[in-house]
Amino acid sequence: MRLILLGPPGAGKGTQAERLCGTHAIPKISTGDMLRAAVQSGSAIGRELRSVMESGALVADDQIIALIKARIAQPDCANGFLFDGFPRTIAQAEALRTDNIQIDHVIEIRVPDAEIVARISGRRWHPASGRVYHTQYNPPRDEGRDDLTGEPLVQRADDREETVLKRLAVYHQQTAPLIDFYKNYEAKSPHAPCYTAIAGLGSVDEIAREISDALSS
Ligand code: AMP
Repeated sequence: MRLILLGPPGAGKGTQAERLCGTHAIPKISTGDMLRAAVQSGSAIGRELRSVMESGALVADDQIIALIKARIAQPDCANGFLFDGFPRTIAQAEALRTDNIQIDHVIEIRVPDAEIVARISGRRWHPASGRVYHTQYNPPRDEGRDDLTGEPLVQRADDREETVLKRLAVYHQQTAPLIDFYKNYEAKSPHAPCYTAIAGLGSVDEIAREISDALSS
């Protein structure tokens, strides 16, 4: 099972990815998580990545493609994988096609921009554990504090409203063209992945059910 989850930042790709990876016993490959790990390492490359990510722009295609190729060569990807946040540009999708890396399904999770802004700008994060809260939908017991440790929660720089708006603009300009890319691909090639669009507005369970129906149809 080789899957791509496509959709704007904050569409719920990460949550659905966790479930799908559990069900299908495949690794989740999130380029955002990989890049954040590189930033945490404090290396010179990490510092460069941080400034790009905090601005809401995309990291260079070459860097991302090299990262992905190295990752899917690992033994745990032998039976499949799920890409969360990759590909994000036509050049990244073309790199998969050029390398004959076949994908079975592309699932697009659709969420309107206004909902995305409300979701992401309320997110709060506990850096030491990675626990994520939401000021409105999943508030901590004490405002601004992690439930288990009581330590302060922070807002990720790329979750601030102005950055979210920038990330959405980048999504519409650079990533949304992948929707037509995969639809046209499906029409033209027998090796094309199946493409399904799903509304990302119901409960986590409802959306998971729709994805599972799409994968089994
Ligand atoms: P995410 O957690 O997937 O929203 O990614 C956070 C940030 O990492 C993005 O705003 C980009 O700056 C960068 N990033 C993640 N995945 C990619 C990708 N496939 N191509 C380019 N930049 C990426």
